[in-house]
Amino acid sequence: MKHIAIFPGSFDPIHIGHADIVYRALPMFDHIIIGIGENSQKKYLFPLEKRMEWIKAVFQHEPKVSVESYTGLTVDFCERKEVNYILRGLRNGGDFLFERDIAQINQAMNRKIETLFMLTNPSLAAISSSIVRDIYMNRGDITKFIPEEIENAVRAHASAGR
Ligand code: ADP
Repeated sequence: MKHIAIFPGSFDPIHIGHADIVYRALPMFDHIIIGIGENSQKKYLFPLEKRMEWIKAVFQHEPKVSVESYTGLTVDFCERKEVNYILRGLRNGGDFLFERDIAQINQAMNRKIETLFMLTNPSLAAISSSIVRDIYMNRGDITKFIPEEIENAVRAHASAGR
């Protein structure tokens, strides 16, 4: 049986904290699907196609990683993809409390699904997509916080009009 995990999130945009979790989890799985959850009630800064394109660019040389978007519940996406593992990163105690509730609810909805947590690399724990977005919207330099493979693409997106 293949071990496949879904790493769900908004990835608005992907940053080096996300990439670190994926790279560190890869030896444990045959495949990781990065699942971009699309919620019609939520406003995103970057269009879905850009978020997806950038994730693909980051992992273009890693055949064990793929990217898909989904709507609806993450457990239903797992069921459709026949995946039993959800991967999440934990930055701090706040993340733990939030993630614990979601993981327990997900398990109540689908007993087959296990959520696995990985602790953030301490040097990356302060990075979040919302901080990256804030810097971007204030015309700051976000290149320190995003994977180098997408620096030019994000710059091009910025100059095409924020
Ligand atoms: P969400 O919108 O659900 O918060 P994100 O796109 O922000 O999703 O994050 C997706 C996953 O990446 C979550 O499990 C989150 O905890 C994890 N993550 C976010 N930032 C970091 C970081 N700096 N280091 C490690 N994991 C992180």
